[in-house]
Parts: sequence; structure tokens; C-alpha cells
Amino acid sequence: MTEEAERWKEKYLISIEQQEKLERRWEARLDLLRRGLVRSTLAAEGSDKVVDQCMKEMREVIRSDNMDAGLAGLIPRLEKAVLESEQRRETRMHQVGDALTALVDQLQGLPLSSDVSRPLKKLAKRLEAGVTQSRDLPPLLGELSGLQGRALAALDRPEGRSRGGFLQRLFKGRDEPAPVEAASEQVTGPAPVAAQPLVQEVSLLSHHDGHEGNDASPSLIESEHVPGVEPPPIPPAPPMAMDTPLRTEADDGPPPLTDVPLSDQDAYALPYAVEPPYSQVAAHIEQTLLGLLDDLSLPDRHKAQAQAMRERVARGMNWYELIPVLDDLAVLLLAITDSGQHEFETYLQLLNERLEGFHGHLQAASAGHADNSSAARQLDTQLREQVDGLQTDMQGAADVSSLKHLLESRLEGLLMTMDQHQHERDRREQALAGRLQGLSERVASMEQEALGYREHLEEQRQKALLDPLTGLPNRAAWSEQVEREMQRWQENGGDLAMAILDLDHFKQINDGYGHLAGDKVLKIVADQLRKRLRGQDFIARFGGEEFVLLLPDTSPADALQVVETMRLAVEACPFHFKGERVVVSTSIGLSAFRPGEVADQVLKRADAALYRAKQRGRNCVEQN
Ligand code: GH3
Ligand code: MG
Ligand code: MG
Repeated sequence: MTEEAERWKEKYLISIEQQEKLERRWEARLDLLRRGLVRSTLAAEGSDKVVDQCMKEMREVIRSDNMDAGLAGLIPRLEKAVLESEQRRETRMHQVGDALTALVDQLQGLPLSSDVSRPLKKLAKRLEAGVTQSRDLPPLLGELSGLQGRALAALDRPEGRSRGGFLQRLFKGRDEPAPVEAASEQVTGPAPVAAQPLVQEVSLLSHHDGHEGNDASPSLIESEHVPGVEPPPIPPAPPMAMDTPLRTEADDGPPPLTDVPLSDQDAYALPYAVEPPYSQVAAHIEQTLLGLLDDLSLPDRHKAQAQAMRERVARGMNWYELIPVLDDLAVLLLAITDSGQHEFETYLQLLNERLEGFHGHLQAASAGHADNSSAARQLDTQLREQVDGLQTDMQGAADVSSLKHLLESRLEGLLMTMDQHQHERDRREQALAGRLQGLSERVASMEQEALGYREHLEEQRQKALLDPLTGLPNRAAWSEQVEREMQRWQENGGDLAMAILDLDHFKQINDGYGHLAGDKVLKIVADQLRKRLRGQDFIARFGGEEFVLLLPDTSPADALQVVETMRLAVEACPFHFKGERVVVSTSIGLSAFRPGEVADQVLKRADAALYRAKQRGRNCVEQN
């Protein structure tokens, strides 16, 4: 072979070797591709029947030797199947989206509280934007299920508890509440505080995004709950959404809960307690009350009162109507068989016995005195007799010595009579002194007892003038104080202002969070009001959620300032329930005594002003 030929051969062999290497590499790549394709087809299976069939065929083609020809036939079919499958999937997603929207619409048709309706509205918007990915479905369904659970729980209030929907529990875990969007952005903000409608935030949303910062309100919950009763994961929503403007906290509104130091937050936490529906016990309570009223033997003057009470009970009551009925019953019972009166009667009986003893002693002393007088008369008689006898003896005396003798014996007799009398008198005086001593001791001890009873009676009287829930003076105390102040005003003139404060939508606090929470609100509000009294000011709980104020020597402008401070203080109380701020507000009617007016007239005008404040939207002061 020539040198040239050798060179070509060498080149040829190298090229073959490279070709073989290249072929092995392609072979390996092809193998990898085959395996990858087989796995992909397996993974893609299950989404669509036609696509599945294509995938199956593809696996066979890939494994066969004539892959090129097989694939050439299969790929266009596969492309078509995938395209159709995608269209079907899109249609299905639309259908699911429509079905969800229909569900949300149905829920929105129910009377919902704001904490359900607002997130529901957000959910509807998200559905409107379209559901494109099936992976979006589980959270959407979970959320809807949660809202549905809460809506139904709110509708079925007697049960008062909701564990969330099945799907919610499936997707969100047993106890975790469904996420709820921040509700604030769809609610219009309040007007400036003084003129805005009373807006009361009683949202019970479990979660907030909080991006507007207006939902960080103080929470009203306490860990205490009825022993043995598991608190429901979602609290009963207050049924206020239908007619109540909901509060969103504007910048000038009350401070958010986050502004309240943690240490103070507990004080404003409203207790959570599961209350049995009144209907469960109503019949029993009503029967018991009617039985009690029947069994009472009433004096005539109380009969009309009892009859009115009987009618109130028979008409049927709710929890909160029961409280005033019980109060009235207590007053009636006290009026009839007042325990204090009973005690007082016992005391009077004792006093009577003592006085009888006292009378006996006085009689004895007086008898002693009578003895003394008769003894004195007796002495007088005896002395006269002695002197008469002496005169007779002297006239009949024959001589000096017999006269002397007679005189001596008569004097002896006189002295003895005197001695005897003295002796008797001493004895009687001693007895009398003893009796007088006994009497004065008795008087002293009776005085002591009377003092004790007077103090006790005063204590009872003071207690009877205090409202037990808030510790404020009650209506009776108010009447006394108004009478006093009015008299002073009539004598001295000057200014005398009066105001009525009424908590806004308080019934909803009771209905939404239970009457224990309502009671706590009353107590705290009373404290806040009391703290803002000046020296002579007087406040009383007039009844229910109403307070009355008497401001002596206060001009209308100053009075306005005082009550405005109180209004702001109530609004600023960081009440919270389960971590959510609950704003409590108060409407105030203010009036001042006009010349010649009596308290009732001024109170009526204040009440009319209060009515106007409520009409104006609540959480404001009106003057009249
Ligand atoms: P408005 O803003 O018009 O004043 O509405 P409101 O709901 O405050 O007024 P309404 O007079 O309808 O309701 C007052 C409620 O106060 C009804 C009653 O059940 C409740 N209430 C009265 N006394 C007490 C109490 O001692 N404790 C509790 N928890 N609630 C009380
Ligand atoms: Mg009221
Ligand atoms: Mg009220």
C-alpha cells in the first residue's frame, strides 16, 4: 500500500471509531428519551380517556423497533386528543366556578351578619374573576364551606355553635377556622365622630388580613366558659347585620386594640359563656314564677302590682325581660316579708319586754316613794301623839321629879320613833337607789342597742340605694339626690344640669355575646363614667343600660364638655371579643333646669334630647 493509501486507511478507521462512539451516545440518549416518555405517559394518564389511549399506544410504539413510523402516525392523533381534552377541562372548570357562584348567591340571599357577608362578597368576586386551575379549588371550597357553616350557625342560633363545614374541616383541619378576607375594605368609613351614625363594630371574624389596620380591635373574650361545655370554635354572630350600620374604624375613631397595653386588655375582655337558650327553661321559669305569685298572701295595696307581673310572665319573656321581672318580684317580696323588717320587729318585741321591765321598776320606785310619804305621815302622827301625850302628862304631873321622869320617858319614846323612822327611811332609800341604778343600766344598754340598730338600718338603707351590678347609686338614690339638689337650686339659683346617657345597640351586645358580656360592659362603662365625675356631680344607674347625671353649678357649655368627655371615654373602651374589637358607644341627652321647673320636666326634656341623639345616628350628644 502506498503511503498515501496508508494515510487514508488510518483516517477511515478513526472516522469509523468516532462514528461508533457517536452512535453509542445517540443510542443512550434514545434510550433515556424512551424511558422518559414511557414515564411521562404513565404520569399523564387518568386525565382524559382518549389521551390515555394515545399514551398507551405511545408506550408500545416507543418499545417497538419501528418507532419512527409508529410515532409519525400517533403524534397528530395525540395532539388532537390533548387539545380536545384541554377544552373539556376548561368547560369543567367553568361549570365548577358557576356552581360555586350559585352556592355563594344562595348564601348571600340569607340574612347574614357582617362577618359572614363581607368575606362572602370577597369570595364572590374571586369566583367572578374565574377559576382556572383545579388546584385553586380546595382552598375556595374550604373557605366557602366555613362561611356556610357560620351562616347556618347564625341562622340556627339556639344551637349557637358551628364546627364549620365538612369541607372546611377537611381542608383546614378540625379546629382551625376558615381564612376570611379582611372585611373592612368594602365598608364605607364613618362620618366624623360627632355626626356619624352610631356604628358599632361587633365583628366576630376569626381572621383578618388586617391590611387596613382598622380591624385590630380589643377582644372581648375571657377563657372562662361554662364548665364541661366546650366553647364553639366560632362564636355566635350578633344578629345585627340586617339593620345596623357596621362600624369601620376611621382614623379619628376609637383606638385599635393594638394600641392598648396587653396588661390592660384583659380588663376589657368580654366573657364568653355558652348560654342555654331561654326557650329550654322558659316554661319552667314561668310556671315557678306564677306559682310563687299565687302562693303569696298579698296585702291589698300590692295586689295590682302582682297581677301586672303575672300578666307579664304569662305573655312570655326572654332572658332580659326576665331580669326586670325578677327585680320587681324581689321588691314585692321585700315589701311583704322584708327580712330587715322582720329583724326590726324582733327588736321591737324585745324592746317592748324591756320597757315592761322598766315600767315595773318605775312602779316599784314610785311605790317606794309612796311608802316614803306614808312613812312621813306616820312619823308626823306618831310625833303629834307623843307631843299630845307629853302635854297631857305635863298637866297631870304632881311634882318636878315625876315631871322630869315623864319628860325623859316621852323624849326616849320620841327619839326611838325618830330612830325607827330614820332606819326605815334609809332602808327604803337604799332599795330605791338600787332600783334607780338598775333602771339607768337598762336605759344605757337599750340606748346602745338602739344605736346598733340605727347603724344597721342606715347600712341597709345605703345598700338599698346602690345598684348591685355597677355599684352606682340606683334610681331611688337618684330621686333623693335630685330632690336635695333641686331644693338647693331653688334657694340659691345658679346652674343645674341634667343628662341621660343610654348605651347604643346594647341589646345586640347581649344577643351577640351573651348577657354576662353585657353585664361586664355595664360595669366597666359605669366605672368610666364615675371616674369622670367632678366634685359635686352625681351619677346613678337609672335602669337597664341608662345612666343619669346631675351636674350642680355647671353652665350648659361646661355640662356639654363633661358629657362629651364621657361619651368619648365610653367609645374608647377597648372592649374585645375573641381578639376582635367591639366598640361600645353611648348617646346622651342634656338639659338644664329653667326657672320654675321641677326635676321631672327637666328629665323629660333630657329624654327628648336623647331621642334626638338616637335619631341622629347615636354616639352623640343632643341638648334640649
Ligand atoms: P338603642 O341604641 O336604641 O338604645 O338600642 P338598645 O339595644 O340599647 O336599646 P333597647 O332598649 O332595645 O335594649 C336595651 C337592652 O339592655 C335590653 C336589655 O336586655 C338590656 N339590659 C337591660 N339591663 C341589663 C342588664 O342588667 N344586663 C344586661 N346584660 N343587659 C341588660
Ligand atoms: Mg335604653
Ligand atoms: Mg340603649
